Amino acid sequence: MSGRRWIAAALLALAPLAFCAHAAGPAPGTSRAVAFVGVDVLPMDRDVRLDDHTVVVRDGRIVEIAPTAEARVPEEAERIDGAGRVLMPGLAEMHGHVPGADRPEEVEDTLLLYLANGVTLVRNMSGDPSHPALRARIESGEVAGPTLVVASPWLRGEDAAAVEAEVRTHRAAGAELIKLGSIPAEAYPTMVRTADALGLPFAGHIPSGVGLVAALDAGQASIDHLDRYVEFLVPGAPVADAEAGWFGSAWVDRVDTARIDEAVRRTVAAGTWNVPTLSLVEHMASAETPERMLAWPEMRYMPARERTRWLRAKREYAQRPDFQPDAAARLVALRRQLLKALHDGGAPIALGSDAPQFFNVPGFSVHREMAMMQAAGLTPYEVLVTGTRNPARALGTPDDFGTVEVGRRADLVLLDGDPREALAHARTPVGVMVRGQWWPRDRLQTALERIAARNASGE
Ligand SMILES: [Zn+2]
Repeated sequence: MSGRRWIAAALLALAPLAFCAHAAGPAPGTSRAVAFVGVDVLPMDRDVRLDDHTVVVRDGRIVEIAPTAEARVPEEAERIDGAGRVLMPGLAEMHGHVPGADRPEEVEDTLLLYLANGVTLVRNMSGDPSHPALRARIESGEVAGPTLVVASPWLRGEDAAAVEAEVRTHRAAGAELIKLGSIPAEAYPTMVRTADALGLPFAGHIPSGVGLVAALDAGQASIDHLDRYVEFLVPGAPVADAEAGWFGSAWVDRVDTARIDEAVRRTVAAGTWNVPTLSLVEHMASAETPERMLAWPEMRYMPARERTRWLRAKREYAQRPDFQPDAAARLVALRRQLLKALHDGGAPIALGSDAPQFFNVPGFSVHREMAMMQAAGLTPYEVLVTGTRNPARALGTPDDFGTVEVGRRADLVLLDGDPREALAHARTPVGVMVRGQWWPRDRLQTALERIAARNASGE
């Protein structure tokens, strides 16, 4: 880790100032404490609510949690009234995307959209060469945003030697994990060996021709989008699965759901995480028209170029030969069934929506994703676990964040109600704290209005 930090610091020193930094609250290291007084706490390490507690934060960490009558609040602390409100850990978007340095204003907007929705960590699944430096700037407090976990760019090598070289280059440039897209199947074992030797997890898609079983056997850290599960459920299917269509949509009628149990068993045994991104497929496969989807309130925060791209993508998807409306509905139902079976079988699940793909506005889309996970049969509490405690486990740092406990990073959201009763309570936080920096609602709203105005003027 220290080596990686050194590389990030070196890159930061060398990189030109690619985008405009702006004030992000008190710099880390300032010792002024913040206290949430008289708040109902969802610690998320277990399914309880600690009513009328006080939580004290200093230097970006939680330093005290106690019943309000017993809490020691430092004299100089900034006091935030928690009465009638609920404090929970910030959410993680475990499959998000941040633009590259060629679009500096969109980088800044994207980070703020995440924050405004209570997202305090993003596993950024499409690395840009600028992202390690961006990660360091966010960490230092120079740029406002969620903590970034930076994946490599998509691997593009056409043979094993090229893929090996890429993995080494990305590691040296500061990538914390390898993002898998579509490498040649025969290069997969080399990728695995190289990444393992460098201590780098690999995650994302399962390349065509590799198959679910080989990816699980190789110890892939996460499978995103439930990739290749549909193919696994087709009895006797060849591993050459290029014909299966988009996430198996062309094979959905050949699936034997009796094989779900085996898929779950194998996933649990491998310890591989799933980041389902239900919304990625459901937004494309839904019967909703793209015009109606573009009328969703959060669309005002997206650049017109992106909205047009989504409109075209959905229209084109509806024209594809492997897309039939009732088959699409069965694909959606099957994916929900799979998620529920994986979850109930003990396979680890982490929240991710794949923003900003296909109508997924950064931050807002995790709330749509959570509603879909609930529709798949998870309870609201179980859904919240996938977005808080589980991401910390998935990243191998279970004691660092994701719960409200002394010593955890002060990534917190303050809500007007208990999201275990209705997930909608998590949608519009009263305020968000990221690494100890407090963003009350009015400040978040000002940022949102500025983003909306910028995109309206860009029409
Ligand atoms: Zn993605």
